[in-house]
Amino acid sequence: MSTSDSDLKKSRSGRGTGKSRRGKGRYSSFRDVVKALEEISPNLPDPRKAEHPAIRYEMRDVVLSATSVFYLQHPSFLSFQRENQEKFGQNNASTLFGIHQIPSDPQIRNMLDTVSPSHFLPLISRVGESLFDQGHLDGFRTSIGFLVVLDGMQTVSSDAIGCPSCLTKRKSKESEEVTYSHAAVTPVLVRPGEARVIALVE
Ligand SMILES: [Zn+2]
Repeated sequence: MSTSDSDLKKSRSGRGTGKSRRGKGRYSSFRDVVKALEEISPNLPDPRKAEHPAIRYEMRDVVLSATSVFYLQHPSFLSFQRENQEKFGQNNASTLFGIHQIPSDPQIRNMLDTVSPSHFLPLISRVGESLFDQGHLDGFRTSIGFLVVLDGMQTVSSDAIGCPSCLTKRKSKESEEVTYSHAAVTPVLVRPGEARVIALVE
């Protein structure tokens, strides 16, 4: 699938073309994005409030810790930082992301599993707009425009349990048996010969 420049520019405001775009967009540094995550965090639903009045970790630490794992593409990043904190009294999670206390992996999951991704979608869109406005996506242009590949994936599937958000499929028109599943289409901006890809909002 290909999409033209004008498609990608659609719905963006206050931009020009070529070099005049550079410098625009809301975010211009990694620090800006970390700050935006910090601003979102206090407004996220916190599943602990009702049952556990004593809250040990701040939501901001949970959000920033989860982000750090994806950002650094290293599943054991946080456990390594916890060890560093114990051994040396400092760690990169604090230095890079400003994390006060590093939560455990189950604590991160427990707190974020109940948070809808919709809280983060405006931020992801604005980061994409900033990348475009500042010319960082220029290297992804091809002779026919920007290339977006769509990958479909299924995350869970069950014949026994489902939730209101599940996709449902009957084995046949007459069948009573229903299969419940969750699926996602993941659009990604790519360019031949470019090792990096840019994940787009679904
Ligand atoms: Zn479901």
